[in-house]
Amino acid sequence: MNSGSVEISSSRERLLRSLRSEGILKTKGIEEALRKIHREDFLWSGDHATLAYLDEPVPLGETGQTISAPHMVVIMLEALDLYSGMKVLEIGTGSGYNAALIAQIVSDEVKEAMEPLVITVERDEKLVEFASRNIARVGLEKVVKVVHADGTLGYPERSETIAYDRIIVTAATPRVPYYLLKQLKANGIVIAPVGNLSFQTLTKIRRTLKQEDGKEREILEKEKLIECMFVPLIGEQGYRF
Ligand code: SAH
Repeated sequence: MNSGSVEISSSRERLLRSLRSEGILKTKGIEEALRKIHREDFLWSGDHATLAYLDEPVPLGETGQTISAPHMVVIMLEALDLYSGMKVLEIGTGSGYNAALIAQIVSDEVKEAMEPLVITVERDEKLVEFASRNIARVGLEKVVKVVHADGTLGYPERSETIAYDRIIVTAATPRVPYYLLKQLKANGIVIAPVGNLSFQTLTKIRRTLKQEDGKEREILEKEKLIECMFVPLIGEQGYRF
C-alpha cells in the first residue's frame, strides 16, 4: 500500500468507527461490505479520494446528482434487513455505490447466482454508463444489472408480477410508486424518502398478503424512520417537471 491508500483506509476506518459509536452502523455484514466496496471508486473522475470518507453527499460531476452521505446509506441498508440470496430493486443508481454495497451483502454466499440479484434503474444515460463502469471495476457486474429507464414504473416497467424481496428508492418521491408496491413479495420491504422537494421522511413499508374468503388482501405497515433530503425522483409516478 502506498501512503495515499494507507491514509484513505484509515479515514475509512475512522468513519466506520464513528458510525458504529453513533449507533447507526449495527450489522456485521454491512460493515464488511463498507470495507470491501470503496466509496472512492465511485467518485466522479478528478475528485480527490479524500472526499470519500467525509460523512457528506458528493456531487456527481455536472449531472446535478449526488452520492448519498455514508450515514444515510447505512441507515437505509440497516432498515432494508438484507440477507444472502435476496432479490433487490434499486431506483436511482447514481454512482452505483449503494447498488454495489447491496450486491456485496446479498451475494455473500451465492457467488454463482444464475441471474443478477440486484436490478438498479437510472434515468440519466450518462450515469448508467458511469455506474456500470464502477460496478464492473469492483467485480460485481454479474450480480448487478443496471437498467436505463423510468424507475417509477418498476422493472419490468408496469409489471404487477411479484419479483423482489426488497425495493429501495434513493430519490425523493411524493409517494411510493404503485408498481413498486405491486412488485414486492409478501413480507417484502420497500424504503423510500417520501415527501416534498425540500424535505422528506425516510419511510419503510412492509407488505403482507393475507388470504381472506379465497381472496388475497394486502396489508401495508408503514414506519417513519428519519427526516432526510434527497434529489427528486423524476418520472411518471414521481415528480413531473
Ligand atoms: N444511489 C445513488 C445515489 C442516488 S441519487 C448512489 O449510490 O450513488 C438519485 C438518482 O436517482 C440520480 O442519479 C437520478 O438521476 C436518479 N433518478 C431520478 N429519477 C429517476 C427515475 N424516475 N428513474 C430512475 N432513476 C431516477
